[in-house]
Amino acid sequence: MTGANALIGISARALLCVKAVTGARRLVFAIVLILLGGTLFAENLRVQFIDVGQGDAILLQTDDHAVLVDAGQYQDAADYLGEHGVDLLDLAIATHGHADHVGGFPAVFETVQVRELWYNGQEHPTLTFERFLDAVLASEAEYREPARGDRAEFGNLAIEVLHPEGSAADYDGHLHDKNIVVRATYHEFSVMLTGDAEAELELELIELEDMVLESVVLKLGHHGSSTSSSREFLAAVSPAVVVYQAGEDNPYGHPHAEVITRIEETTQAEIYGTDVHGTVVIETDGIEYSVETSNGMRQPIQPHQFE
Ligand SMILES: [Zn+2]
Repeated sequence: MTGANALIGISARALLCVKAVTGARRLVFAIVLILLGGTLFAENLRVQFIDVGQGDAILLQTDDHAVLVDAGQYQDAADYLGEHGVDLLDLAIATHGHADHVGGFPAVFETVQVRELWYNGQEHPTLTFERFLDAVLASEAEYREPARGDRAEFGNLAIEVLHPEGSAADYDGHLHDKNIVVRATYHEFSVMLTGDAEAELELELIELEDMVLESVVLKLGHHGSSTSSSREFLAAVSPAVVVYQAGEDNPYGHPHAEVITRIEETTQAEIYGTDVHGTVVIETDGIEYSVETSNGMRQPIQPHQFE
């Protein structure tokens, strides 16, 4: 071995030694991270199906971010945000212009700051809708009409737009046709929020290529109405938990018994409803999840209750 080669040999050994130390340090660091993991990285997502009576309002909340999908008809969603210390929404989504989804937004805008609001642009000739629009315009929220494939990320929480394909400002058909449908993901966890999407829209989604529909949680379209939640859609989403938002003793008979039967026949899902359980909160670390209800009732709805 020449002097130069010996030197290279020593340097190489020294380098290996440094690498080994670094490797050991990394290992120790990794173990520390794993040990601390339970506390340091314990950020959870809480999906809160707020009991707003007959209407939809869903709050997706992590330590640093909050997204609200629909706001019910009255004051309930704003009250809930206030009571739970939410003072900023990164994003608010109004799925369509009906009162039981947008009626609560003026109160929400009075209660919290909203950074961005998504709506499909379709007009609706009611006073409630006009008040909703006025509140949006008077706010500092950035307004956007999202399109299929759009995606917003807030830390590990991602919101993807599945429907409509683009602005519905020029659409004059039924408000449910261009309802905004989003799928939210958080690590391995996912929740499909359908607003009042009906069966025809569901089939449109199923027929799209490259569209991931499978989700851990499904919010049933249109408050559990039989015009939504087709067998095909339930099978495609294949949820472990379904939640519908409906008022106790509502005049529409929501949720419809045939929807409960379809769920039972096509999925293994547990069924929760705000009319029975009050506010339903699904908390997840991104892998596992648990369900809590505001009235303390943990038992999912049994299909025979609807027979
Ligand atoms: Zn509705």
